[in-house]
Amino acid sequence: MAQLREAMDSHRAAHQSIGLVPTMGALHAGHISLMERARKENDIVIASVFVNPTQFNNPEDLRTYPRTEQADIDALTAAGVDYAFIPSVEEIYPEPDTRVFDLGPVAEVMEGAMRPGHFNGVAQIVSKLFAMVGPTRAYFGEKDYQQIAVIRRMAELEGFDLEIVACPIMRHPDGLAMSSRNVRLSPEERAAAPAIHRILSESLAMAPATSVADVKRAVTEALDATDHLKTEYYEIVDARTMQPIADWSEAPTAVGCATVYCGDVRLIDNITYRF
Ligand code: AMP
Repeated sequence: MAQLREAMDSHRAAHQSIGLVPTMGALHAGHISLMERARKENDIVIASVFVNPTQFNNPEDLRTYPRTEQADIDALTAAGVDYAFIPSVEEIYPEPDTRVFDLGPVAEVMEGAMRPGHFNGVAQIVSKLFAMVGPTRAYFGEKDYQQIAVIRRMAELEGFDLEIVACPIMRHPDGLAMSSRNVRLSPEERAAAPAIHRILSESLAMAPATSVADVKRAVTEALDATDHLKTEYYEIVDARTMQPIADWSEAPTAVGCATVYCGDVRLIDNITYRF
């Protein structure tokens, strides 16, 4: 880790820009798109692979999280990153991280409400990575839309001087958002899962003529009517604040955020309503 810091210090001293892409591995084309974007915009690209235990509120989820280290190393090599940082838990947390971040309202709703401690764990690992790497820019995917808002808040709180770059969701040809968790779907579940993006997309045409409450109800009912799918929540929020809206006029850009169980695999996706 001292080595990593030294290497990054020397790049900064040479006035080279550093793009950081944090991941939890089991890399897919969604992750690679972040690395490609970082490659275009920076002199140096560093990707991290670390399944961060402090952001898992569910031990079973942590246990079953896919881990494909050799394939990840091959993918990082193919993507042309300059540094692959694949630390152990002991390296990142030589002692327990007891920091509690004041993440505010952006972290209280949706994933924050459903997964207690999750965003505090995200803030812990991302703040450590920012401190170690000192990136010029850090790249995150809009699949985890709320996470980006939380990370922006953390960076502001902690005074990190960097650009946080939000990257579009990469999807399979059938519309399913790429996710490390997709490998856990049975063939029947995998066939059902694209309905999530289809149903969210279809709801775009309902707004703004249909009320927010009715759109939420229609989306939830359509998801639940699909075999293998069970909605945990479908919330429509102001893209700037992550706070639920009651009326379309409250937000120039609203985001519909879905968490849906497909069998026992928890999938998230979202769609943007622009007016
Ligand atoms: P993860 O390994 O799931 O923690 O994801 C690492 C980063 O990749 C996060 O910033 C995610 O938002 C992003 N990411 C994951 N899936 C996708 C996707 N399908 N499209 C774009 N970015 C993604």
